[in-house]
Amino acid sequence: MNRLDPELLQRSFVKLTATFPKRLTSLYMSLRMGHAPLNKHLHRIGKIESPHCPHCQRIEETVHHFLISCPFYQCERHILVNALGRKAFSISYLLTDPNATHLVRYINASGRLKTTFGEVLLPRKPPD
Ligand SMILES: [Zn+2]
Repeated sequence: MNRLDPELLQRSFVKLTATFPKRLTSLYMSLRMGHAPLNKHLHRIGKIESPHCPHCQRIEETVHHFLISCPFYQCERHILVNALGRKAFSISYLLTDPNATHLVRYINASGRLKTTFGEVLLPRKPPD
């Protein structure tokens, strides 16, 4: 996964999440830091045996894999791509888009992070 500029993220993050429900803020934070409860991270912290995606053999389940490339979520991703076009394939865009609606819908529809985050509420109102 490409490293994002930490300082830029830090600055924009406070503004970005000002209108976010709390759970959405922690979801965003965990995705940005690579600490989302996906197998690569769970393996790193010793919670599970394998870092691999539950749906793909021998491919680590990273944030990038989950959001951008895992074929298991292609229906959910199709909706994301319809809404965002090529930007749906940019991690930096997805995790800095003030209108988090599309990403949240994708994550809710995938059900993948439900154990930790439940149904993630949408932002009350996207910031201007
Ligand atoms: Zn996969």
